[in-house]
Amino acid sequence: MKIRSADFVMSNSNVINAPKERIPEYAFIGRSNVGKSSLINMLMERKDLAKISGKPGKTQLINHFKINDEWFLVDLPGYGYAQISRKKRTIFQYFIENYFKEREQLVCTFVLIDSRHDPQKIDIEFMQFLGENQIPFCLVFTKADKLGSSKLNKQISAYKKILLDSWETLPMTFLTSSSTGLGRKEFLDFIGGINED
Ligand code: GDP
Repeated sequence: MKIRSADFVMSNSNVINAPKERIPEYAFIGRSNVGKSSLINMLMERKDLAKISGKPGKTQLINHFKINDEWFLVDLPGYGYAQISRKKRTIFQYFIENYFKEREQLVCTFVLIDSRHDPQKIDIEFMQFLGENQIPFCLVFTKADKLGSSKLNKQISAYKKILLDSWETLPMTFLTSSSTGLGRKEFLDFIGGINED
């Protein structure tokens, strides 16, 4: 798939205000600093498309972008901020859970994982939440340029092993680097392929 246009549509804190248009939607989520904004910008070949979500006060929002006038890319807030208060965390969980439960046009969620980090409880729990709610997701390993291939394979195997404790089949996996562009073609072909079906 070629990216012909990528436009910011709107930011919301509540899914009921999200765009009503019934076009396929793909969501990006992961722990803060996982490389989500960089990945979105790399995929869309835009320097600061995802920067909108990085503006102070706007970080806790659901950001919709319309791609090629055909599908929505949704930039969800990063989870797992140690500094965030318990009250804020509960509100955050509530509106994110609502997003996943309410958004019927959601085709796939991309759960971003920093390739350098060992499996983290918060990521596994989040995937379990998606699984329990039958929300399709793919695993996206970011910052692959930071590791050698044997270490990278080890990290991915560690994740797969944990997931196989809970599931019979593994989610589709992408290996990406925003620095080198690794994974861009596979990623866009995957979305393009689904949209054509
Ligand atoms: P976000 O908080 O998930 O949106 O993360 P950012 O996209 O802002 O990235 C967090 C940090 O990781 C920044 O310093 C980026 O430059 C860096 N980063 C993101 N992706 C990559 C990557 O693929 N390779 C490398 N080497 N650094 C990356």
